[in-house]
Amino acid sequence: MSTSHQIRHIRITPIAFRDPPLLNAAGIHEPWALRSIIEIETASGLVGINESYGDQPMLDALAKAAPALVGLSPWALNEMEVRVAALVTPPKLTASEFLGQQVSLAPGTHVSKTVAKVVSAFEVAMLDLQGQMAKAPIVDLLGGPARDRVPYSAYLFYKYAEHVDQPYAPDAWGEALTPAQLVAQARRMIDQYGFQSIKLKAGTLPPEQEAAGILALAEAFPGTPLRIDPNGNWTVETSLKIVQQLRGVLEYYEDPAPGLDGMAAVARECDVPLATNMVVTDFAEFRRNADMGCPVKIVLSDHHYWGGLRATQRLSTLCRTFDLGLSMHSNSHLGVSLVAMTHLCASVPLLTYACDTHYPWQDEEVVEGGRLQFEQGSLRVPTTPGLGVTLDREALARLHDNYLHCGIRNRDDLGQMRKYDPEFTGRQPRF
Ligand SMILES: [Mg+2]
Repeated sequence: MSTSHQIRHIRITPIAFRDPPLLNAAGIHEPWALRSIIEIETASGLVGINESYGDQPMLDALAKAAPALVGLSPWALNEMEVRVAALVTPPKLTASEFLGQQVSLAPGTHVSKTVAKVVSAFEVAMLDLQGQMAKAPIVDLLGGPARDRVPYSAYLFYKYAEHVDQPYAPDAWGEALTPAQLVAQARRMIDQYGFQSIKLKAGTLPPEQEAAGILALAEAFPGTPLRIDPNGNWTVETSLKIVQQLRGVLEYYEDPAPGLDGMAAVARECDVPLATNMVVTDFAEFRRNADMGCPVKIVLSDHHYWGGLRATQRLSTLCRTFDLGLSMHSNSHLGVSLVAMTHLCASVPLLTYACDTHYPWQDEEVVEGGRLQFEQGSLRVPTTPGLGVTLDREALARLHDNYLHCGIRNRDDLGQMRKYDPEFTGRQPRF
């Protein structure tokens, strides 16, 4: 390869964008969600891009690892992984830090996954460069499309109408705490995006109330696949009681009880398949699930922390080997992450469920051309070189300015919830 395509420069730009007051097991979303935009530039002037976590520990890790890329070919993904692993060694956790991680939903703070997260952040940007050089979409670099569009699900949240410290005009979605409000939220999201399956983020209101929400959705949208995700915030006993109430309604049951042992206890008494993005989150945990006879039947992957698009393809081979299903988890994100997910999911034949996305909850965008358009709940797989999206420089500057002024450097759903309820402990499982 000529030296003109050698990587010359890496830019990491932290950004913040508006995020509604969405409730979850950890607490509630803050008014701003953080991400980082990664740009990898070659000596010839090509720029590969990606989007990843924007919490301070992740920004520190990206900054520490970035010099490892200088001089590398964009094709040298394996060498990049070796260099990143050598530079980014996870710090040893104290016991309380380790336990602290278990109740956090803030992905940027999972230090044990730092190497995988940094590798992923660089891998996608390097694949974007490869695609530009080969004049091929990333999905072709991954073996070509198994489908030409990727289905996503309507991701419903219980939510307040406004943030406690609302720094901008409230979002258009309004309050959602009752079953009727939840159905209205689903109706609005499905009308707007055409989603054909529904996921409810739970673990926040009393479980009976959340079960009533699912039953109301089942009645309002007959035949639509439904999932509920309490993020491990229910005991095994509560998990079993609620799944009885939801018999015949759920497509899968996502992380009802905490820990793989808790999930295994639920699986022994329940015939609805269990899904997770909490207890099988890396290859070591995959092995533990397999050793236990696979109580978890569906792995909800996320290339941002599984180590990238190729690592997720390897995960799909393992899932097939062990007769497991595969779909995708999501955090608050913008279009670069969405389009990377879409290339990946198009390349994985096993992907048989609609993927999660927070995208409808955001109204800002960092890619040129603005918000990506869903067709009947699906995104068309790009056919142009690389990722198929480029950065809107003005938008990037604006979102970076948000970051500089928002005052948030690490996601803290628990601390945010304490502004509404000073007594809130965040203890899990809560119900
Ligand atoms: Mg989940």
